[in-house]
Amino acid sequence: MSRIKVNEVFETIQGEAAFTGSPAVFLRLQGCPVGCGWCDTKHTWDALQEHETSQDIIIAKTEDSPHYFVSDAKNLAEMVAQNYQAKHVVITGGEPCMIDLTELTTELLAKGLRVQIETSGTFEVRVHPRAWVTLSPKIDMPAGLPVLASSYARADEIKYPVGNARDIEVVIEQVLQHVTPSKLLWLQPLSQSKKATDLCIAAATQLDARVSIQTHKFIGIR
Ligand code: SF4
Repeated sequence: MSRIKVNEVFETIQGEAAFTGSPAVFLRLQGCPVGCGWCDTKHTWDALQEHETSQDIIIAKTEDSPHYFVSDAKNLAEMVAQNYQAKHVVITGGEPCMIDLTELTTELLAKGLRVQIETSGTFEVRVHPRAWVTLSPKIDMPAGLPVLASSYARADEIKYPVGNARDIEVVIEQVLQHVTPSKLLWLQPLSQSKKATDLCIAAATQLDARVSIQTHKFIGIR
């Protein structure tokens, strides 16, 4: 039976990439060894025993914290279906693919929900075949974990965060090497920066990609 560590559960609007605008329940899982310097969920990196707490406390929390609850797949899917109205579920992190998500994605789909995974691609993606996989490879990850070829192959869409001109050079190199033309390809400026947005627009034109704006940040929601 799976032991899933959940840092946060909340309902909002998906602000990025193909499902932009979709009301969604976000399940943020605990644990990530990737170590991106600009990560805005650093509180999910470690899963210390002392931070384990109850489901009720996590569901009620409104501020970032390293606390999490542990659930199995069946109970977690049941809880999402019963407590939230959105029909789209986003499993994010942390790095959700550190664990096998086959059972959880299967349970959620069986409840008539649509399921999306957001992953850095550094761990094998183990999900139901109908789960939508958003691969977000990070540039110069301090932990030096490679993005797996199997992650590129499984991805339904690929979304590169871009902060500066050097990121764009690396992204173009990676796209030409790993991304087949059939994949939905997005370039996403970091931190709503005008400079990064201009770089993304220029490169998207060159690569026939799309620009993903973090729309939720412009309207001040999570
Ligand atoms: S992969 Fe995601 S959660 Fe992990 S460090 Fe990078 S941005 Fe943060």
